[in-house]
Amino acid sequence: MEQSIEQGTEQVAEQVDVVVAGAGVIGLAVARALALSGREVLVLEAASAIGTGTSSRNSEVIHAGLYYPTGTLKARLCVQGRDMLYAYCAERGVSHRRCGKLLVATSEAQLPKLQAIAAQAAANGVHDLQWLSRDEAQALEPALQCVAALHSPSTGIIDSHGLMLALQGDLENAGGQVVFNTPVTRATVMPDGIEIEAVDRASGSSTRLRARTFVNAAGLSAPALARQIQGLNPRHVPTAHYAKGSYFSLAGRAPFSRLIYPMPEGGGLGVHLTLDLGGQARFGPDAEWLSVDTADQIDYTVDPARGESFYAEVRRYWPGLQDGALQPAYSGVRPKISAPDEAAADFVIQGPADHGVPGLVNLLGIESPGLTSCLAMGEWVRQLL
Ligand SMILES: Cc1cc2nc3c(=O)[nH]c(=O)nc-3n(C[C@H](O)[C@H](O)[C@H](O)COP(=O)(O)OP(=O)(O)OC[C@H]3O[C@@H](n4cnc5c(N)ncnc54)[C@H](O)[C@@H]3O)c2cc1C
Repeated sequence: MEQSIEQGTEQVAEQVDVVVAGAGVIGLAVARALALSGREVLVLEAASAIGTGTSSRNSEVIHAGLYYPTGTLKARLCVQGRDMLYAYCAERGVSHRRCGKLLVATSEAQLPKLQAIAAQAAANGVHDLQWLSRDEAQALEPALQCVAALHSPSTGIIDSHGLMLALQGDLENAGGQVVFNTPVTRATVMPDGIEIEAVDRASGSSTRLRARTFVNAAGLSAPALARQIQGLNPRHVPTAHYAKGSYFSLAGRAPFSRLIYPMPEGGGLGVHLTLDLGGQARFGPDAEWLSVDTADQIDYTVDPARGESFYAEVRRYWPGLQDGALQPAYSGVRPKISAPDEAAADFVIQGPADHGVPGLVNLLGIESPGLTSCLAMGEWVRQLL
């Protein structure tokens, strides 16, 4: 790539093999996979750094793949991606810990659901779960209250920023490049490729590129960006919905050495306890559907009042939680493509066979377990193309 970007609306657009919009964990993983397969890749990122979106506002959990309906992309890419991610972390020295997780039933009434999740996990190819009685669970985690639990030894935690730096490093070593402060504003399907328009925020000038392949990995803004692709039938673009999840951190020592998850509930996995690599505990995320139209209207401030409901939910599995121990921490927003009253949608990875546009891939609704799935998703997109 002699010169990656040609500026000025009147000039002939520069030819680039692949343009990826978005340098979150998904855009970087896809860009890396394509660059390693020998393609010339340019990533255009709206923000001034990698991973400032959802990729730095999540639980940093490497999921085992328990919950998702069998055969869905979420189930397949999570299970594959988890194994790829552990191997990649070991190879590239990305900080992580296979700490394990307990999924807990806190009443007899929840036991059928716990059994259903165990069956779902087995159907998804997750065969290392152990069913624990109350006593067995408490032997592992003495502070825990439950009637039974599933132990998932292959669940872990990861330094998501370290992962993204490693992906960016691989991309750049393979000749790819990330350009910051350059949001893609529009694309047009042409007979010989896709013309991409972006804005250079530093100079305010617009930029045009002609790419053989365009990957829309704009996260929360991916549906909005897809709608700006002239030549893509809008019926392929789902409506974006935004479900905010707030986290509260625990003052003092973590009472558990494994992650503790209650039963999943509408929109998310329930207010769970996760640990960071420093051993600090945090609780969340809850689920709050936002009534905003675009991602830039999102307010990520954590409302301290939401902490009230956390106490009751957490005390179901950890009665030892003291009043006043939770502090507002941070929030993230799930890039939903299903409405609150609909069943959770699967990841949508639309390629030419889906929408009929050669060289175009839209990545839509990449919520959890997107972080876990990123390497498998990169491979999936590479094969799709
Ligand atoms: C609360 C919460 C908890 C989660 N926990 C987990 C977990 O524990 N484990 C797990 O596996 N997954 C988890 N996830 C899911 C995971 O975080 C996401 O799937 C993943 O981070 C999505 O990455 P992304 O690259 O698609 O999006 P993002 O990280 O949001 O990246 C999109 C990028 O595109 C850029 N962009 C936007 N518009 C444009 C444009 N027009 N042009 C150029 N660039 C643009 C943005 O600036 C951003 O950098 C969680 C998600 C949430 C919300």
